[in-house]
Amino acid sequence: MSERTLAIIKPDAVKKNVVGDIINRYEQAGLKPVAIKLIQMSQSVAEGFYAVHKARPFFGSLCSFMSSGPAVVLVLQGDNAIKKNRELMGATDPAKADAGTIRKAHGANIEFNAVHGSDSPETAQFEIGYFFPGMEIFS
Ligand code: ADP
Ligand code: MG
Repeated sequence: MSERTLAIIKPDAVKKNVVGDIINRYEQAGLKPVAIKLIQMSQSVAEGFYAVHKARPFFGSLCSFMSSGPAVVLVLQGDNAIKKNRELMGATDPAKADAGTIRKAHGANIEFNAVHGSDSPETAQFEIGYFFPGMEIFS
């Protein structure tokens, strides 16, 4: 079933000039970008996005990282897009990510791990709406 997921190419990956490589991986896997933009989040925008993690010890550091430079936010559409993107990304900790995944290739550590992907239909709906009004999404 075709669905949509929210992906972010995080500031570490933008700095490393691997935006093209990562988007190529999405497209090769059948995940079509239907919305895309380069943005720099403020600390409070990052805090709103990651509100579910606000009790975690890494929350402040994570939000500083996510607002430290420009990031690419995308809506990806395709069959099983949410699960497929999580598979492409690999484990949260790049050291534990499978060979061939984005985080294995481009992540530095459990925090600076190159990409974000929604983890369920409910979070995808929230996350897509957080960054994109309907008129900026194409299909
Ligand atoms: P994922 O991005 O794989 O869904 P989580 O939702 O658990 O992982 O965490 C959100 C983000 O917070 C991670 O992608 C990573 O950047 C950061 N993070 C997660 N766990 C840690 C940790 N133990 N220490 C520092 N940063 C972390
Ligand atoms: Mg998550």
